Amino acid sequence: MRWFRDRQHRRAPATAEADTADTSTGTGTDTDTDTDTEDRVCDCCGRPLSRAGAYALPTERVTSSQAYWEAVFARTKALVESLDTSQQLQFYSRQLRATAAEETPWYVCEDCAAYFLFERAPARRHAVERTVPEFNGAVDPSGYVLYAAAAWEQVFGRWPAHVTRHAVTGHCPRCGRPLHTEAITSTVPGEDREICQPCTGRALHGSG
Ligand SMILES: [Zn+2]
Ligand SMILES: [Zn+2]
Repeated sequence: MRWFRDRQHRRAPATAEADTADTSTGTGTDTDTDTDTEDRVCDCCGRPLSRAGAYALPTERVTSSQAYWEAVFARTKALVESLDTSQQLQFYSRQLRATAAEETPWYVCEDCAAYFLFERAPARRHAVERTVPEFNGAVDPSGYVLYAAAAWEQVFGRWPAHVTRHAVTGHCPRCGRPLHTEAITSTVPGEDREICQPCTGRALHGSG
């Protein structure tokens, strides 16, 4: 299922060239793709994105982001609600598996960076230099069920029925989201209570 995330633009230029090879009697005009100016789009929102404005993140950062999953499910809400219950759960599982299976880095824009907890400078450097971020590669989806399930609950108002529910330990003082056991939380300076992961991402983003 790639309709949320279109990564066709990220194919290696050589492959793309081969697929569209011009078989006419060429006149020697060189139309090689210039990889430095290759257009890409944000892997979260699909908006155009230059490498200099991107952050490169490993799949692990993406699958562990409740805020990212909330964005995915919010965007696909109308579709999901048109499905029956078992189809909805299949959709949930497929999204989780497909996302966790991504081998290559994710490139995200400044706006979408607020979904994730990561160090800005190395992530930017990896995007600009096209190097691979630390911990890159596919992950075991079973380790990330909770983050997607918490997002599902936030968007659809119920926990996915086939996922074992974790206990709620409290609520985020900023947004009221339930805080589950094993969820990522944090305390920010000046606040003595734990805040949820989506609020943490926004807080870090706001402070640069
Ligand atoms: Zn974006
Ligand atoms: Zn919150």
